Amino acid sequence: MSLRIGFGWDSHAFKPGVPLKIGGLAIDHPEGLAGHSDGDVLLHAITDALLGAVSAGDIGSFFPPGDPRWKDADSSIFLNVALEEIQNAGYRIVNVDTTLVLAAPKIGPIASDLRDRVAELLDLKPSDVGIKAKTPEGLNADHVAQAHAVVLLEKVEDELGLLSKADVAEMQKQLEELIGEAQGAGRRRISLHRPPFDTEDIT
Ligand code: MG
Repeated sequence: MSLRIGFGWDSHAFKPGVPLKIGGLAIDHPEGLAGHSDGDVLLHAITDALLGAVSAGDIGSFFPPGDPRWKDADSSIFLNVALEEIQNAGYRIVNVDTTLVLAAPKIGPIASDLRDRVAELLDLKPSDVGIKAKTPEGLNADHVAQAHAVVLLEKVEDELGLLSKADVAEMQKQLEELIGEAQGAGRRRISLHRPPFDTEDIT
């Protein structure tokens, strides 16, 4: 089994007057997270972890922050692109683990909802998603939300399921050529094993 690991990290400042969205979940709180997109710090960290796991760059290389198309964008769009990248590379997620660092709101009471929502977005079982949270003790960062994420990927075993008909036809052609070559080699071997002394001149 071929495994790959990915790590992602992100931070966004809190800002009054914008809705708070973390892990794709709308959370009732007086402040939201500032950002060009919806500021979903957790989905950004997971997106980077997925892209990093298949060496596909980072969220900024796919979605430059100055691009007006991503103004207030739902961050699940970014996540879906990262999911496509790992699928194209022939991998799927084994599990995801995350840690949020923020002073408020308290994540404990909503951790289960967050886990279910992230699992839904990643098409995973909730038991394959870890959601943890800590307060930023000693970091002087009470108005910032940070997220760390790690993902483990495994190579998709049923690779034939990812092959197009054209790929299968090409493989068949190559296989037939190999068989033809092997048969040709067999004939050549037979010809080499003819008795070497086939003349009268053996004195
Ligand atoms: Mg971000």
